[in-house]
Amino acid sequence: MAFASGNPNFRQSSKTPSTLRQIPPNSSSIGVPSPSTIRAACPGCPLSWESDTFWSTYPFHIHAYTTYNPSYSFVSLSPPTIRSARCLQDCGTSGGPCTWCLTLPHDVEAVRDRAGLSYGQVRVEQRLHHDQLSEKIEKLKQQVNDMKLEKLNLSRSLASARRQICEYKMIFQYLGTHAVPGIHRMFPNALKFGWGTKRFFDRLQEACSGEYVPRNYTQYEIDLAILLYELGGGSAVHAMNHSIFALPSRQTIEPYRRENRPKLCLSDVNVLTISQNISTMFRSHQDKDGKIRETPIKKRAHTLMFDETALHPSVEYMPSTDEMAGFCLEHVSELETLLVGKDTRSVKAAVAAVKDGKVHIAQEVTVGAIAHLSRDNYGAKPIFVGPSCKKGDWRRMLEILQSALEAGNNSPDGAAKHGDIWIASLDGDYKRRIALFMLCMHSEIRPGNPLYSLICDLVGLNRRVGKNNLVMDMDYRHLFKRTLLV
Ligand SMILES: [Zn+2]
Ligand SMILES: [Zn+2]
Repeated sequence: MAFASGNPNFRQSSKTPSTLRQIPPNSSSIGVPSPSTIRAACPGCPLSWESDTFWSTYPFHIHAYTTYNPSYSFVSLSPPTIRSARCLQDCGTSGGPCTWCLTLPHDVEAVRDRAGLSYGQVRVEQRLHHDQLSEKIEKLKQQVNDMKLEKLNLSRSLASARRQICEYKMIFQYLGTHAVPGIHRMFPNALKFGWGTKRFFDRLQEACSGEYVPRNYTQYEIDLAILLYELGGGSAVHAMNHSIFALPSRQTIEPYRRENRPKLCLSDVNVLTISQNISTMFRSHQDKDGKIRETPIKKRAHTLMFDETALHPSVEYMPSTDEMAGFCLEHVSELETLLVGKDTRSVKAAVAAVKDGKVHIAQEVTVGAIAHLSRDNYGAKPIFVGPSCKKGDWRRMLEILQSALEAGNNSPDGAAKHGDIWIASLDGDYKRRIALFMLCMHSEIRPGNPLYSLICDLVGLNRRVGKNNLVMDMDYRHLFKRTLLV
């Protein structure tokens, strides 16, 4: 054993572990020594240690370590017995340990205390016992495994980073050589759906081939597409839908446009319907998330205008209201009902009325609109749409005008919010001129009227106005045509 061969004290004591040493007889001895003259060699001191854990918890290496002197050595290992390095080798006649060996338990106590520590608390590695060394080895194994795992992770991360750099280069190269439709909407989608570079690159290729269309349109794009449709029609929207901007298609903007569709007056001139149309056209805009977009409102003057446009004569079915549409407003009251219902009676009655000439299929549609008198946003917004056979008299037109003015004055999105209607503008049709005359010529601007100071010096000006200073505005092209023709 290592400690047995390295420690001279141990060698010496191991040779004579518990033998009695003969003391040379003195001059008075007579051959056979007496018991009082027999002196015992020091047997050493028992090592106080847990017998069950002695082999695994005693730091045997301290006996081989030259820089550490445990001040004792083993006499025997079973039972563990130690002897001081200063052992007197003579214990007199008592047979017990010598005085130096008797002090060994104090030295052993320090070794035992250290043996109870964890390996990290023992500063010198040569003082560790088997269990502490085993613990340290396990810890080091764990550290080695952790480092291996870390190395593996780093290797994978490096490979992934290199792959991503390669894919980024591919994306950059692809974007530099291809016009990807709707590319500006693909980045938000990539963030939202957590696309990796590979997925993003695949999407770019799909977008170019038309297999993928990013449809996360902004409200601005929807508004732009609606404006395009209003200005350029379906072909303009189609062209921009298939351009690099990939604006919403006509089908996509349809639900947003439907909100702004005016309701038709199919059976009568209904003030409530006109009022609803005013709210539809002039209320605060609602974006695609359902939030109201409040815009600063400035009160302005408005023009109420009417005109007619040709219509392909036909009767249509309105599935939303289960009604027939297309009969002239002037005579539609001849029909009992426009509702289709569950049988064909109302349809047959309508057919009979048309055949009898009691009601007509409209060939024109009368459209009433209101427009701001301002530098911007002055587009006419339709508030009244009614089919017409042009066989009504001026009273019908007057009724429509009065209903539109009443709705404009009473609607919460009308005069109270945006300002009054100052001008009623019609074409030169004689029925309309009569209606305008009845509406706008019944009072005169006199002192006390806010307009009086502005026009009192204008000699020859027609000073007659209607309610709320409403003035007529005939289309001069019609006046010129009529004058020239006359
Ligand atoms: Zn001794
Ligand atoms: Zn008619």
